[in-house]
Amino acid sequence: MVSMQTQKAIITGISGQDGSLLAQHLLQRNYQIIAPVRENYNTINLQALNIESHKNIHFVALQTLADINSIILEYQPDEFYHLAAFSHVGQSHDNPQKVFEVNSNWTLKILQAIKNSSPETRLFFASSCEIFDSNLSEDVDENSPKKPSNPYGISKLAAHNLVEYFRDRYDIYSSIAILFNHESELRSDEFVSKKICQEVVRIVKHGGKPLMLGNINAKKDWGYAPDYVKLFPELLKLPKGDDFVFASGKLHSVKDMVEVAFASLNYKISWKGRDENTIAINSSGETVVAIDTRFYRPMDNRYLIGNKEKLAKTFNINLFTPYEKWVKNMVLFEYQKL
Ligand code: NAP
Repeated sequence: MVSMQTQKAIITGISGQDGSLLAQHLLQRNYQIIAPVRENYNTINLQALNIESHKNIHFVALQTLADINSIILEYQPDEFYHLAAFSHVGQSHDNPQKVFEVNSNWTLKILQAIKNSSPETRLFFASSCEIFDSNLSEDVDENSPKKPSNPYGISKLAAHNLVEYFRDRYDIYSSIAILFNHESELRSDEFVSKKICQEVVRIVKHGGKPLMLGNINAKKDWGYAPDYVKLFPELLKLPKGDDFVFASGKLHSVKDMVEVAFASLNYKISWKGRDENTIAINSSGETVVAIDTRFYRPMDNRYLIGNKEKLAKTFNINLFTPYEKWVKNMVLFEYQKL
């Protein structure tokens, strides 16, 4: 029999970076987790956290969108964390239809299912800073103008608006995290933070060809996923659902991350040249970083900074893990693997 304090949560996207970290966090709090997954979902992150066959995670097959309704009806979860998404901004240009199906249609289906079959369920939705106007020069908060500039951001804004609509129109309890970039040891390979950490470890251990990057002066408001994820359940404990920007409030360049990653392994580099002719060399004069302009992105020069004041005040957060510390965590994780 389920004990009084056991909470039941559905997590979509459990195999992703945030989903697996959230599952780990909720398991430590005695939750029962129901995880709708598609065939051949990725188990790497769940394995890394050693929870892929945890007795309190019940994996259920998700073949079509219609399955969501029967899953919600059957399990009547206390909480529903909707994290599954086509999450790569760059790749979203190539397949906007798929992006909309996963990011927007899914969200609508979940909202309808909660409304019709489990109206007491509290919904958490992972929105994105990509919904904001990219030309904003001030820090963005929950009320800043929204004007996405890629299919990922457009699909997330559609879903974000739907969540707010169901909250207002049907009184569905829902909270939205407007997430700025956040990284961790579990970040997937196609993201630049992971690439930098993997390549830095390879170069320090084995040498070889240089790390090739696009615009190293591109800057992002980067945070650490474990800091953000552990707040997700806190959003659902508020008396009313609300929206919160999750951000570090600081910008760091790609170049900066490369420096911190090498420094984490006490490996000295120095920069030479400018723009696309920039290189970094090691103490033997070998090139360890170089530029490949094919990796340049149209939006490399947008410098969006998140204002986390509402989040910090509401949840009494003083500090997140320092940037240098979590980049080092990512590097050391790769170091142990290679
Ligand atoms: P992630 O690591 O890319 O994980 C994405 C998850 O979605 C995976 O579990 C994946 O499952 C699932 N998924 C993808 N396509 C699917 C499909 N067609 N059908 C079913 N499941 C599908 O993402 P994350 O970094 O954990 O991000 C979590 C959420 O936060 C996402 O909604 C993302 O858009 C949002 N967000 C993240 C960031 C960030 O910096 N991490 C920033 C802003 C917003 P499979 O194993 O089956 O592929």
